[in-house]
Amino acid sequence: MIDQQLKDVIRDVPDFPKPGIVFKDITPILKNIHLCQRILEAFMDRLQPDTIDVVAGIESRGFLFGLWLAQELGKPFVPIRKQGKLPYHTVAQAYTLEYGEAIIEIHEDAFKRGARVLIHDDLLATGGTVIAASELIQKLGGSIAGYAFVVSLDFLEGKKKLADYSQQIVSLIA
Ligand code: 5GP
Repeated sequence: MIDQQLKDVIRDVPDFPKPGIVFKDITPILKNIHLCQRILEAFMDRLQPDTIDVVAGIESRGFLFGLWLAQELGKPFVPIRKQGKLPYHTVAQAYTLEYGEAIIEIHEDAFKRGARVLIHDDLLATGGTVIAASELIQKLGGSIAGYAFVVSLDFLEGKKKLADYSQQIVSLIA
């Protein structure tokens, strides 16, 4: 089962990036190319490709599988990045972190109005990041086709917040 294989390789790193946080480190997955391929297959099994026009990946771990997933779907990929990283004209969205505020951006010509955008990130925690990404996509006239995560930390209840945007929420392990 893909979920058990993933649980076996994702490692918990205590006190990263700050004391008290146990960080799920997904980088060991990348050393196993067969497991990477299985992740793509699992996404393809669980997603509805005909509902998706564009895949948006969130910096930076959302780029690892995001472009690959877009290629499997035969759809364009667009990056959502932290403020100041994208070179062309951008649209921005601020959101609240546990301490302070963050801003993410997308290029203003990332997709055409009306596009149905699948948002991908490695991990869903509180949902703050992908909700900000969803607002960004809506600002550009897109709609949310769904969400695809490798991991969701379901005890944080992020998925409940996403249901207002789309019913298509795929995570390979919870
Ligand atoms: P949220 O906004 O849902 O609370 O946090 C999710 C965002 O923070 C994602 O962009 C994700 O990459 C990052 N993140 C938060 N905690 C972890 C973690 O334990 N492991 C990984 N790999 N990413 C995390």
